[in-house]
Amino acid sequence: MDNTAVFKLSYGLFLAGVKTGTALNACVCNTAMQVTSEPVRLTVTLQKANYTHDLIMEKRSLGLTILKEDCDLDIIARFGMNSGRNMDKFEGIEHTFDLNGNPLVPSAAVAVLSLNVYETKALGTHTMFFCDLVDAETLSADGPITYDLYRKRKNSMTAPKTEKKEEEKKGGDWICSICHYKYDGEIPFEELPDDWKCPVCGRGKEVFVKM
Ligand code: FE
Repeated sequence: MDNTAVFKLSYGLFLAGVKTGTALNACVCNTAMQVTSEPVRLTVTLQKANYTHDLIMEKRSLGLTILKEDCDLDIIARFGMNSGRNMDKFEGIEHTFDLNGNPLVPSAAVAVLSLNVYETKALGTHTMFFCDLVDAETLSADGPITYDLYRKRKNSMTAPKTEKKEEEKKGGDWICSICHYKYDGEIPFEELPDDWKCPVCGRGKEVFVKM
């Protein structure tokens, strides 16, 4: 079986934001999708290890910012590669609050949604949140960013193509099993330092697989 076939699934990219009585936070996710239209219901799936996950479990609602095609990649890095347990991710980031008091980032969005969680399902490492759409606003006629486009934009920034011929490449292609970033740097993958991190998702070398 070719497990990399699932890399061909397309995904959007979103900020899932929440504010409780004591905390304000958001994280990046690629797992929000509409599942029914009458009523409009969505699922959002987050890693249990995420601080945002715990806050949504407590609050039972979230604000979803649907990121736009040309959004600032720094926004994705800030919300996707840090933990709100260690920093205030919203410091210096323009944001608004939805009807539930959850944060949205309209300047980076094509649309914003407000979701109420009515059920959760534990999925091992993740929890799937089943949500009712309770408010929504379209902010731009532009397209939303896809996860694939994000990887391509990020790859073009972080890994300039080398002049090396294919036969000179050593060790094959290494690809991140989390975000599908394909390593194409000058240094052979095996020789990268142990603390090297994937430039897209921030995970270590151990999540890379050889193709
Ligand atoms: Fe990665």
